[in-house]
Amino acid sequence: MKQYKYELMKGSRRYICPKCHKKEFKVYVKTGTNIVVDETKYGRCNRQNSCGYFRYPDTNEDWTPPQFVYTPPKPLDYVSKDVVEATFNQYKSNVFFMYLVKLFGIEKAYQLQEAYNIGTAKGGGTIFWQQDREQNIRTA
Ligand SMILES: [Zn+2]
Repeated sequence: MKQYKYELMKGSRRYICPKCHKKEFKVYVKTGTNIVVDETKYGRCNRQNSCGYFRYPDTNEDWTPPQFVYTPPKPLDYVSKDVVEATFNQYKSNVFFMYLVKLFGIEKAYQLQEAYNIGTAKGGGTIFWQQDREQNIRTA
């Protein structure tokens, strides 16, 4: 016969039931002792029909720490270099770039283009690529 680690306390002693709060709670003790496991949790309420509280200690006693599954941080989405470089063209149709050329001259305009990753969007719009410290393009 299986030897249980815990048994209901022998005798007529009753504790306060954690559920119905009536003094009808028989608690679990360590088998062969009078050591109460936890009178606020583990035991059986005598009011089986109206309360029904019943909890065996083992459910929590053999507690094992939760397993933390390591999930590597999601890599940042970088815009591929090809996509970025594909926009570094058609500057003649880029209104903003032509504006820079007008202001600073073609050479300076290209320097600014390089410094600020200015690209040309379809239809002559301007793209400002956001570059991080590792020179990766994050977004525009
Ligand atoms: Zn109860």
